[in-house]
Amino acid sequence: MSEKLLTRLNDFASQWIKDLEKDDLQKLLGDTENFVDDLAQQLSSGTGNSPEERNYQYVGSVFIRGLYDYIQICMVLQDSNWYRNADLLDYVWRKYWDCKTRFDFSQNIAGGDFSDHLSSLLTKLASFYQAHFGNGMYLSPDLLIRRLECSICAQDFRACGHISGRLYNGIMCRTLARGIELKRASILEHPEDPRCRIWPWNYDPNTGKFKGTMLTMFQIDDFLFNKAWAKMGQPAHAGYRVSAAGPATPDA
Ligand SMILES: [Zn+2]
Repeated sequence: MSEKLLTRLNDFASQWIKDLEKDDLQKLLGDTENFVDDLAQQLSSGTGNSPEERNYQYVGSVFIRGLYDYIQICMVLQDSNWYRNADLLDYVWRKYWDCKTRFDFSQNIAGGDFSDHLSSLLTKLASFYQAHFGNGMYLSPDLLIRRLECSICAQDFRACGHISGRLYNGIMCRTLARGIELKRASILEHPEDPRCRIWPWNYDPNTGKFKGTMLTMFQIDDFLFNKAWAKMGQPAHAGYRVSAAGPATPDA
């Protein structure tokens, strides 16, 4: 990793830890959003950097994006009654997986205090949900996919040499499903996307019917594709706000 990128990440880290100690989540949220945007812009325009350097930059950006998830979770947890709200329980569960996915992918790049804060919160949340809701059941779609396209070269994925999940010049290769048809939904104990959890309050034992999410739009690097990434996926409950305006507060 270049000295310059390393210095920037370290500077950001030390300031971040200071603000966290002051419990200034509002400032942290804004600073983290700006830093992610800054790194994303560099990645998009990043001329002159070597492919290896761009890959490091990508991983660093994903890590900082995971810190943003972390702060969003902390803001909800500031309200000691958060777990009484069904939408917030679902929201924190999804954020937990967003944060965990980004952290698992990128934690090798940042150690020390950063990692300690994140792993400690993630472990606490995992125990909380396990203790209160067990392993859970999940919705999973059975899809008919007519064609898999490579995100790097746009060719048929079976024919090109790119490998899904690998970084190429600061871009992650992924398979893009084309011509999707939903065949049916399954209920699984071990789903591909644990964000699609069926909660007890979404199940009506009288009718045997339930509602749930079948697909989420999670993208580890959403900040590269959506300028409004920071505004997406806020909790739906009308009585609660978790926004840049402040921590979760019940409306009077
Ligand atoms: Zn390809």
